[in-house]
Amino acid sequence: MEHRGLKYSGFKVIKEALTGHKGWKPVWRTPKPREEYDVVIVGGGGHGLATAYYLAKEFGITNVAVLEKGWIGSGNVGRNTTIVRSNYLLPGNEPFYEFSMKLWENLEQDFNYNAMVSQRGILNLFHNDAGRDAYARRGNAMILAGADAVLLDQDGVRQMYPCLDFENARFPIKGGLLQPRGGTVRHDAVAWGYARGADSRGVDIIQNCEVTGMVIENGICRGVETSQGTIKAKKIAVCVAGSSSRVMSMAGMRLPIESHVLQAFVSEGLKPILPGVVTFGAGHFYVSQSDKGGLVFGGDIDGYNSYAQRGNLPVVEDVCEGGMALMPMIGRARLLRMWGGVMDMSMDGSPFIDKTHIDGLYFNGGWCYGGFKATPASGWCYAHLLAKDKPHPVATEYRLDRFKRGAMIDEKGVGAQPNLH
Ligand SMILES: Cc1cc2nc3c(=O)[nH]c(=O)nc-3n(C[C@H](O)[C@H](O)[C@H](O)COP(=O)(O)OP(=O)(O)OC[C@H]3O[C@@H](n4cnc5c(N)ncnc54)[C@H](O)[C@@H]3O)c2cc1C
Repeated sequence: MEHRGLKYSGFKVIKEALTGHKGWKPVWRTPKPREEYDVVIVGGGGHGLATAYYLAKEFGITNVAVLEKGWIGSGNVGRNTTIVRSNYLLPGNEPFYEFSMKLWENLEQDFNYNAMVSQRGILNLFHNDAGRDAYARRGNAMILAGADAVLLDQDGVRQMYPCLDFENARFPIKGGLLQPRGGTVRHDAVAWGYARGADSRGVDIIQNCEVTGMVIENGICRGVETSQGTIKAKKIAVCVAGSSSRVMSMAGMRLPIESHVLQAFVSEGLKPILPGVVTFGAGHFYVSQSDKGGLVFGGDIDGYNSYAQRGNLPVVEDVCEGGMALMPMIGRARLLRMWGGVMDMSMDGSPFIDKTHIDGLYFNGGWCYGGFKATPASGWCYAHLLAKDKPHPVATEYRLDRFKRGAMIDEKGVGAQPNLH
């Protein structure tokens, strides 16, 4: 059952334009929850919807419900700054993110939906010799894992981004690590495309359905309590991002995760000035330009635990200072909008895709700043774990017990410090 008969194409767009746009259909149904499913996915963000999609498409498991307490795209999948990349260093991470990048590259054809995948390149700047050494090492690790990386000197960066402040007395730009295949993807279209692909294969996407409790009998999780009644399932797959600690506490679990606010900002529309994504190497600031012309940027988390989806002014100032140090012309642009999302910050900055000690209960979370780029691989690997009860080969390190085993995946080398990851 594919796409319920409606396949998008250029021809279809022209036909609809000429006939008053009367032939478009809702892209997913609004079903009532059934009493029981094979798999219930808690959280209709990017990861939950991707998991449902790959469960149905790759593993033939279609008796699946995605339960979302709000609406599809209301969480971080619709709040992020849309950056995708696979420029990681550690062996536990890089193959996973490169797998994700390869899935991005074919995603629109795969789910027949325009997600505006734009591989316009991501450039991480360095400002001193130590930064250069670190990026040379990272670039080599990426190439060894089959990804792409180019180390640019100052002239190379200048050619691509003449608007940056190369002579900044404190943070002169010395060069950068470029991943040409990195870029941006329209975030909410990713949620809609996966939702449509999952729904068309029989998955029930149930919005306004908040999970309020776990049904656990004799150490086995047999279902969930929700605002629309009890729903039974053979497997319960939690992936609620910033709400991870709250939902898993319903099963009596404490996670190595803290919830923090991360803000994002968009300026007024400007003429094209930034061809790709740029990150500042001497502070936390990253920026790209949307197709509408707005500069889309962000920086650090707010630094205190919160479940509020809004941020505070000191971080606004801090982010804008980073922007001014990198490209002073940004000071002339007016800020149009800003918002916040709740991040599931793990202690080592790396995620989890794992079974829990409770039979039938699975967990996916701890994505910190970087879960959007992981969406396709996270969905695929979580679906693999749910279908086969063993981890996908690129996600073997994302275990809940890695702290107990001393096997942290400390990509940034800052230790067990969620504030610093
Ligand atoms: C401002 C900002 C900028 C970011 N920028 C980037 C970036 O550029 N690149 C990148 O890779 N990552 C980025 N991220 C991180 C990325 O957005 C997240 O890691 C990722 O989206 C999390 O996965 P998700 O899409 O499944 O989360 P969400 O979309 O948050 O999905 C979780 C869902 O679970 C639902 N839920 C919660 N509790 C319950 C319950 N009890 N019952 C039912 N449903 C529930 C929520 O309503 C939500 O819809 C950014 C995040 C923010 C906030």
